[in-house]
Amino acid sequence: MRYVSTRDISKTFEFKDVFIKGLADDGGLFIPETVVKYDEKEIRDLKKLSYSELAKKIVYPFIGNFMSQAELSNIIDKSYSTFRKDNVVDFIKLGDRTVLELFHGPTLAFKDIAMQLLGNFYEYYLNNENQKINIVVATSGDTGAAAIDAIRGKKNVNIFVLHPDNRVSPVQRKLMTTGKDENVFNIAIKGNFDDCQNLVKSMFADKKFSSDIKMSGVNSINWARIIAQSVYYFYSYLSVEDASESTNFSVPTGNFGDVYAGYLAKKMGLPIDKLIVATNQNDILHRAISKGSYEAEKVSETISPSMDIQIASNFERLIFDLNNGDDQQTSLDMKNIKEKGQYLINDDKLNKISENFLSARMSEDETLEVIKKVYEKYSVVLDPHTAIGYGAFDKHNLKGNNIVLATAHPCKFPDAVSKAINLKSDLPKELEFILNEKEDYDIIENNLEKIKNYITGKTK
Ligand SMILES: *Cc1c(COP(=O)(O)O)cnc(C)c1O
Repeated sequence: MRYVSTRDISKTFEFKDVFIKGLADDGGLFIPETVVKYDEKEIRDLKKLSYSELAKKIVYPFIGNFMSQAELSNIIDKSYSTFRKDNVVDFIKLGDRTVLELFHGPTLAFKDIAMQLLGNFYEYYLNNENQKINIVVATSGDTGAAAIDAIRGKKNVNIFVLHPDNRVSPVQRKLMTTGKDENVFNIAIKGNFDDCQNLVKSMFADKKFSSDIKMSGVNSINWARIIAQSVYYFYSYLSVEDASESTNFSVPTGNFGDVYAGYLAKKMGLPIDKLIVATNQNDILHRAISKGSYEAEKVSETISPSMDIQIASNFERLIFDLNNGDDQQTSLDMKNIKEKGQYLINDDKLNKISENFLSARMSEDETLEVIKKVYEKYSVVLDPHTAIGYGAFDKHNLKGNNIVLATAHPCKFPDAVSKAINLKSDLPKELEFILNEKEDYDIIENNLEKIKNYITGKTK
């Protein structure tokens, strides 16, 4: 399989480049030239596979000659052995919805599912290449923890994680800052998540700096993450499917990565009817999909911080599709978004979007209300992100199998949970120890030069 950039389809890349670079040099995102398509029978045959077996089958065609099938098989087994469930994910049925629990990995959020695999891809790559790289990543809380757990202690790789100071929950922060591994560096930026994201983007754009430190990225635009995430759409579809009914997913959305993985699964032939893009009050994607105006506003802090963004990086991949693969037009659209802060979606394109996507916005009060209602009715505690996905189904009357992606364990967001139901959600036993561990992180101003100096100093 070969890849191109959304902004220039004349050059092709292999999976190895796509994985290590993350972002294309022209600023575009990588996408495969074509995807493998499964027919109905082939999809039915996947039903008998365990999660890991399914992952091997789905991921392999995407990675080309990066590694052999046997090597991938080992890496997937190793990656998912760190999960607390044999089949990685779990399901609970709550009334007319199925909640797909994706948070049984080491850092209690769905991001572990892709990140554990990426960590082992890095290890494999670096063993073969004999070089040292530095991963730099911005996080609103969950990506950082998942990335650190995936990279800690691995040879020839450092990881620098930028999180917004005081804007991640204490449990989120402790999951990042309590390890003692020498290759992990935590930086609290005096700013918000978009500031962190912009700092990382600027470092990547500085070709001298990024090549000097051999910089690599694991943020949600990394194609390897998208592939890994598409697996659980297959797995959950096959697990809950009532073949006569349509299947819909509601996805708590920030950067449009997770829901894009669902869209990719649909492109591969998985008969998904609708994907609901569920947002909090930072609703740029809801405004885009429901009204046709993709326009950034100021980010506001919410009880679902992992979705507090106004620039949905992966949306460029959808824009490319809406442009029927026209790289020039996509470059122009992205330039306009950058310069004018706006992208208007015409009716034609909105119709195309609505074949696959719906959207919903949940206010803070609505989110708390969902946590309360679900707890009272089913004695199940949802985290605020998952509650947004759950509540989004109330805004659309969809028949059939309705699957909510549960993206984080409620114990990561104790303030929101106790506000809704006056109950404390405990950490799983295996993770309780982090509460008393010593934390290690540096607080730095939102200043590009200072961050660069910090990183250069640590990589000497
Ligand atoms: C990252 C994250 C999201 C948003 O996922 P995207 O791929 O950025 O859309 C939702 N919920 C939780 C708990 C997250 O950590």
